[in-house]
Parts: sequence; structure tokens; C-alpha cells
Amino acid sequence: MSAIDEVKQKLDIAEVIGQYTTLKKAGRNLTALCPFHSEKHPSFFVYPEQQSWHCFGACNTGGDVFAFIMKKEGLDFGEALRLLANKAGVVLPERPGLAERKEEKEEFFKANDAAALYYHNLLLNSPAAARAKGYVEKRGINTKTTGDFQLGYSLDSFDALKNYLKEKGHSEETLITAGLLYQDEQGRSSDRFRGKLMIPIRDIKGRVTGFGARVLDDAEPKYKNSPQSPTFDKSGTLYGIDRAAAAIRKLDQAIIMEGYMDVIMAHQCGVNNAIASMGTAITETQVNILKKLSRNLILSLDADAAGEEAMLRTVGYENVLNAEMRVILLPEGRDPDEVIREDINRWQGLVEKAKPLIDFLFEKTTAKLDMSTARDKSGAVDRLLPVIAEINDPIRQAHYLQKLAGVVQVDMNTIKASLSRIKPPPGRRPARREGQAVPVKARRIMATGSREEYLLALLLQNPELKLGLEDISAECFENTENREIYNAWKESGDVVSLKERVDPAIREHVEAIVNKSLPGAGNNIEQRCIDCACELKKTYLKNLAARIAETGEVRTEIPEQLKELEARKSQKRNPSYKERIRR
Ligand SMILES: [Zn+2]
Repeated sequence: MSAIDEVKQKLDIAEVIGQYTTLKKAGRNLTALCPFHSEKHPSFFVYPEQQSWHCFGACNTGGDVFAFIMKKEGLDFGEALRLLANKAGVVLPERPGLAERKEEKEEFFKANDAAALYYHNLLLNSPAAARAKGYVEKRGINTKTTGDFQLGYSLDSFDALKNYLKEKGHSEETLITAGLLYQDEQGRSSDRFRGKLMIPIRDIKGRVTGFGARVLDDAEPKYKNSPQSPTFDKSGTLYGIDRAAAAIRKLDQAIIMEGYMDVIMAHQCGVNNAIASMGTAITETQVNILKKLSRNLILSLDADAAGEEAMLRTVGYENVLNAEMRVILLPEGRDPDEVIREDINRWQGLVEKAKPLIDFLFEKTTAKLDMSTARDKSGAVDRLLPVIAEINDPIRQAHYLQKLAGVVQVDMNTIKASLSRIKPPPGRRPARREGQAVPVKARRIMATGSREEYLLALLLQNPELKLGLEDISAECFENTENREIYNAWKESGDVVSLKERVDPAIREHVEAIVNKSLPGAGNNIEQRCIDCACELKKTYLKNLAARIAETGEVRTEIPEQLKELEARKSQKRNPSYKERIRR
């Protein structure tokens, strides 16, 4: 249970509010002259069952105990939390502030930076680096590029880096956590990378997060990467992004390659929008990073290495992107690195002729099958139809259905009938757990809680959605933490400043929302956002209407507002997101 929930559980809202105004019984609820505005007849209500309050008078607002204290004492959320925690006798956990955590990461970045410089100097100046130098030359990498990418060499020693960095004031513990040192079972540490060509990996801000290390003999595997660390997360890393970001934005196109060497050579030859995916499969995190720069993603993977399974998974990211992905088909057995080095014009030609990913999958699938046999026809349908089912855009979907019908020479209706038998992917089905004994009220809160979080995750993960959501009041969020995050979102430009803005007590919750996976959310994010917001508003208004009924007052505008909401929701595929949400 979070500290916030604990505070709410230990305090009774009636008792807290009772200290500011005189409450009188009114059925199951309590009523009072509003402590916020002056009035002669009470329009302020407290609902002990829901632990909430509402003023139906001039304020026309309400909320939970936090909202009350914030408004009454003029405090921000963090201050209100401290005041109420004190009242409730809840000890707030000491959490490192963002500044401290930033500092902590800073330590690892500094160690990595120092290591990169150390390795780089060795490559340039140490006689021991002859082999590494020879390899760099053989790959056609010139001096300028070696410097630009700060390529380096790690001595074949167990403690050269360790001693050097310790002398520079970095603690052994830091170096172990950063992944620069390796610690064995006896607790002894030694240099992780020995006798290798060192490739510093940087984040978009240019800070060294980790390293790729290439063997200089025939040993396998050829590459070894830094382990997961506070700065290095392979699945979210795009090699070369620090140097490519500006070009990706300018050209409105990113070329995703497989290896470090491909990217290094591409940049040397002026292909500045190239980055590498750290493996054959691109991840959703990587797509999310890239889509902030451009939605035009082109995969350049060498034909044999491009696993079909990985490609099939990649199709799903088109929905995350809301755009088509394309594939560069390289001549059999060639690396992008070789093609670029040999003939840049030929490379440009290949980029221009990049094929839509789904067309590429069609080719790959049918090349192995004999379309004159019934068995292979049905094999092609089994393989490709689920891919087509993933496409959200109805026109594109129809296009590929037609294409499939043509390829297998079966009429369109049969294909369509098969499509309708394919279940939508799990993410698109409402999560329902039947037969579970959840009390009605708890279930409702769970449902709205998760809807609140879904909406927040959509907003936080898609900065472009920051368009006129003004008419969704923060009060529509029942969960205190969610409401506070929504408030912070409205005021901050991006997730980083949002994290700085919110109280440390809810940062963990922010983190969970930022990392929440949104299955199927690529499917028209804007519409999902609107639907979600409308549902929250509707629930809020319904609750309000129920309370009004209880208090015996009549407020006709509520049902009207509900009707309006219903109408807005049914108008799907209407003009623009902005217009719809503002209506
Ligand atoms: Zn009031």
C-alpha cells in the first residue's frame, strides 16, 4: 500500500473537515455551510462512504481529503501529504529526490566517459593496440570517424582500467555497477573488457551509457556489450542516436541498421540518419524513441539475418507509429556497410526503392511456397492473414487482403471470411476476469483506476497528444495519485519535467505509468484517448448525479452533459482530434 493510501485509510474525512466547519447529519451523509464560499444554505456535502466531499454551490467542486486540505490550506500536493501524514501518524518513506538520483546516475556517466576517453587514447597511442588499429583500417574507417565515434582499445589486462579509474577517484563499486568491472563469486573485480575494440554507446544527449566490444580474433561471439546498468538498457538503446537525431528530424526519416560498423560507415559516407538497433529485432521502446524524431522508419537488415519472426513482430509497431515501415532489400549476402562504401548512389537508390514491410513479408513467405498447390496456398494464408489482421487502417487492410487473394488465387469473400475468424490480438479485447469474487464497489474503482492509468499512460507516452484536453477536469480522476499526475502533466511540457514536478511520494507511480505497456494502443491513439477521457468524465458525472439525487436537489444540466458526452463518443472518425476534444 502506498503512503497515500495509508494516510487515506487512517484518516476519516469527516473528522478532518469537521475541524474547519460544522457538519450536520443528512441521511448517510453530512452537510455544512461551505468553508470555501459564503452562503446561507448548506450546499457543501461530505460522503463518508466514499471518503469524499463536494460543494454544489458557487464552488461546484470536490474531491478527496487531499483535495480539501490543498484547497483550504493553500498547499501543494506534497505539502498536503506531509500535513496529513503527520496527522495520521504515517511515516513517509525517505525516497531519494530526483536531483539525488540524477546525481547518482551522473556518477556512472562520468565513469563511462572517463573509460571511453581512456580506451580511445590507447587506440591512438598504445603500441599494444596495433591489432585493433589494423582492424579499424581494414574496415575502411578513417581517422576522423575514429575520433567522431571515439573508438578505443581495451588492454589485455585484468586491472588496467580499474587502476586507472580508481586513481581518477571513481569507486570500485561505481565501476562494478556501471558494468566496467566484472565481479566474480568471491567478490573480486576485474576489467570486464580485455583486448577488444571498444565502441562507446551514447544516449541521445551524447552521454556514454555503455560499450560494445568487438573481439579481434575469430572468437565467437564477435561482440560483447555492457550488461544492464543504471545507464545502459539494451532494449531502449539505439546506437548512433546522438549523432543521427538531428539528421533524422531534418530528413524526416530514420534508417535502422543492425551493427555498429554499419552505422559508423554510413555516417562516414554522409548517411547521417543511420542508427543501429542492438540486435536483429527492433523493440517497442526503440520505436517510441524514434517516433518523436520521425515516423518514417526504414529497416536495413541483411537479408539472411533478418529473421522472419522478428519482422512479423515488427509489423505490430506500425500501429505504435501510426505509419508504414519500410525495408531496404540488400543484394544477397551484402552488409549495408559494404554497399554504402562501394557506391553511395546505389545505396540511395535502394533507400528510395525501400519496400513496405508487409510487401516484404509477402515476398519472403511466398518465395518458399509453391502457389499451385492447395497446401502451400493455405500455408500462405495462415502466415499472412494474421499479419493483415494487425493492420488498423481499413484501406491498407483491404489492399493487402486483395493482394493475398490474388497471390493465392482465392476469391476475396473467402479471404474476408477467414479474416473475421481471426481473433483480435489480446490487447484489443477488454480484459475481463469472470468468476472472480470482487465486490461491486471495488470492481468499479479498479475499472476506473485502470482506465485512469491507461489514459495517463497514453498521454505521457505520446507527447503529441498534448492538445486541448482542458475540458477534462482533474476531478474526473478518482485516484489521488493519478489526479496529481494529471495536474502535473497539464503544467509540464514533457515527462522529465513532470517527474521533477510531482512529489517524490508518487514518482514510483509515474514511473509505472511511463513504462506501462499499452497493448494495441497504436490503434488510433487519439480516438482511444478521447474515448478514455469521455468514459472518465461520464463516470464522474454519473457519480455526481447519484449524489445529487441523494441530496434531494435537482440539477438538470448533469443529464444534459451526459447526453452530450454520449453523442461525442459515437461520432468516431470525425474531423480532427483537437476539434473533437474541444467540442
Ligand atoms: Zn462552496
